[in-house]
Amino acid sequence: MSKSDFSQNLLASSRKPQTAAEKIPIIARGAVSDRAKETLNLVEKFVEEECVPADVLFHAQVGEGEKRWSTYPPVIDELKARAKKLGLWNMFLPKNHFKEGAGFSNLEYGLMAEYMGKCRTASEATNCAAPDTGNMEVLAKYGNEAQKKQWLTPLLNGDIRSAFLMTEPDVASSDATNITLSMTKQGNDYILNGSKWWSSGAGDPRCKIYIVMGKSDPNNSNVYKQQSVILVPAGTKGVTVKRVLSVYGYDDAPHGHAHITFENVRVPASNMVLGEGRGFEIIQGRLGPGRIHHAMRSIGAAEKALDWMIARVNDPTKKPFGKLLAEHGVILEWIAKSRLEIDAARLIVLNAAMKIDEKDAKSALKEIAEAKVMVPQMALTVIDRAVQSYGGAGVCQDTPLANMWAQIRTLRIADGPDEVHLQQMGKNENKRGAEVREKLDRQKQMGERLLRESGVQQKSKL
Ligand SMILES: Cc1cc2nc3c(=O)[nH]c(=O)nc-3n(C[C@H](O)[C@H](O)[C@H](O)COP(=O)(O)OP(=O)(O)OC[C@H]3O[C@@H](n4cnc5c(N)ncnc54)[C@H](O)[C@@H]3O)c2cc1C
Repeated sequence: MSKSDFSQNLLASSRKPQTAAEKIPIIARGAVSDRAKETLNLVEKFVEEECVPADVLFHAQVGEGEKRWSTYPPVIDELKARAKKLGLWNMFLPKNHFKEGAGFSNLEYGLMAEYMGKCRTASEATNCAAPDTGNMEVLAKYGNEAQKKQWLTPLLNGDIRSAFLMTEPDVASSDATNITLSMTKQGNDYILNGSKWWSSGAGDPRCKIYIVMGKSDPNNSNVYKQQSVILVPAGTKGVTVKRVLSVYGYDDAPHGHAHITFENVRVPASNMVLGEGRGFEIIQGRLGPGRIHHAMRSIGAAEKALDWMIARVNDPTKKPFGKLLAEHGVILEWIAKSRLEIDAARLIVLNAAMKIDEKDAKSALKEIAEAKVMVPQMALTVIDRAVQSYGGAGVCQDTPLANMWAQIRTLRIADGPDEVHLQQMGKNENKRGAEVREKLDRQKQMGERLLRESGVQQKSKL
């Protein structure tokens, strides 16, 4: 075979489209079941051929004016019915920890979630959308039988939606000990007063239940025992949705991020989750796998941005300075760097998922934090290159890129800002201080001994 035949063959084989299962990184492949591989291929087809095209219809069907918050796009129900029929439902609940899910591991779900991150509709269509996923985990893990029957069952069926209310407008909420909404016991009820914001999903007319964190024992000497989590049905007397917040100008209807006030809201004590004073425990448990769900989807968003960039730089109708953009040197470097950064970030995410699968989220805190911090930053860099390659079109509504950037930018703040995770990671890594100093000292002494024994003078400190 001549050299040019050989390179042609190589190019042809590298261009052959691979299935999603064939694209699983080799270090994870052995841990993925055949059933999960089949489902993964199905997820890819469902997303690329049904959900991505349906996104346009979804956005066109979002209501105008007040209807943005009192209706939702009908296409989502069609997609949900279709996903259920295909068996693509509740894949997020990992088999090692829950009996209610579809029987996949975090790793297997991570691979699927990547595809779902490529569009608006896929996660909701498969009942794998935040914040319901984290809320279902809370109810499955900590709810009692009555709470599960009333709220978990309809959530698992996709009949209702939910919101998680922790962050407050008046305190620095990245430190959850600051949370102030008061929960005062009165007979068989709790009375709630305070306000919450960034309550994602609370704008949706299908959102029927709020999982609310507040302070039930503000004088407890243990600051981690002051908080509790209680279930508050949406529409309870005294609860007011004041407004919905925008994200870089997007209102995210019908989902919405609400600012909600609580004025003497009376909730039965039986709505308390796990028990008074257990709130911290619950939020810690909730935010583990949920944090990497966002990271998993962000890998898909970055892949989508790269697709859009490649499409633009090869567009023969738009040639600056007489050449395709792809023929300008810097652009190929952007493509190469994006590929490299996405592939590296994917390994970080899958590693975190595998670590949770091995035991639990608590033993994977470092790996979860690595994915939580690193992946959105990577995705933002890739999206930004794609935006740049589109020029003016990149920042307006004519591509999905501007909206994707806005969505992913929030992940550096939501579920705890980068700095909080980095501080914790830095603290833990720095615990090796004494050990590292001792090791380097020992090695230095060993080197000096070798020099003495060999009768040789030291030349450098290397
Ligand atoms: C789109 C979106 C959706 C959200 N959804 C929800 C939801 O559904 N439910 C909910 O309860 N909350 C939600 N949040 C809120 C989110 O979790 C909080 O915004 C986040 O925890 C930060 O809290 P804060 O806004 O009060 O910022 P603050 O606590 O006031 O922090 C401000 C900034 O201070 C810096 N900082 C904080 N701590 C440190 C530190 N230790 N070292 C150095 N710098 C530090 C960080 O840069 C941080 O961004 C959402 C937020 C967004 C943007």
